[in-house]
Amino acid sequence: MLSIVSIIFGALIGSFLNVCIIRLPREESIITPGSHCPHCAKPINFYDNIPVVSYLLLKGRCRYCKESISIQYPLVEGITALGSLALFMRFGPSLSYLFYFSFVAALIVITGIDLYHQIIPDVISLPGIGVGLLASLVIPQINFLDSLIGALLGGGSLFIVATLYQWLFKREGMGGGDVKLLAMIGAFLGWKAVILTILLSSLIGSITGMIMMVLKGKDFKYAIPFGPFLSFGAVIALFYQNEIIFWYLRYKG
Ligand SMILES: [Zn+2]
Repeated sequence: MLSIVSIIFGALIGSFLNVCIIRLPREESIITPGSHCPHCAKPINFYDNIPVVSYLLLKGRCRYCKESISIQYPLVEGITALGSLALFMRFGPSLSYLFYFSFVAALIVITGIDLYHQIIPDVISLPGIGVGLLASLVIPQINFLDSLIGALLGGGSLFIVATLYQWLFKREGMGGGDVKLLAMIGAFLGWKAVILTILLSSLIGSITGMIMMVLKGKDFKYAIPFGPFLSFGAVIALFYQNEIIFWYLRYKG
């Protein structure tokens, strides 16, 4: 029963995350005005604003002007709902659930904005570092020292890589936004998860890059934003870091 509540709660928050993804880069208010169709500007009624369900009932089109609604909306709502359920099943009704859910919600907004605009907004990553550090004082899964070292390692290591890259190739490879994002990931998950996140995101990023090159031809030079890969790696680290580290140590020894 509570699992269903966590899905509904996740979907509703997902609906709000959609608003953040669209409005934060434009520096618009995320509270007012209410949702409206971007094509015909008609306000969206509450019954047409039910996460995922309304999209399916309306067959992905605005009720008034019949223009198609971006797949981003049901996708973000669905992913947030599933994330909420998975975290609820792992942590139960607890402060830890809220802590990790707010972390995943921040990663979803960052991923959306990075995909559209190739920027990671400081308004999320910088307060995120503070929230992660403070919450480590009350969350049983992580202690303050681990969180602090995580934030420093996350920020520091990517900063060094980014500086080296720029020095070697004379162009910017990773942005300052990625550095702040990894510092936030470290503050929430600790230093071991930072190392795991770097390894996982580089691996997933390289594979994706190669697939894109095969699909789009050799002269494919479009810079893929790195934030989504860091976010994806961080979520895997959140759920499986103990299993992966255990598996690695056993495999090695
Ligand atoms: Zn419309």
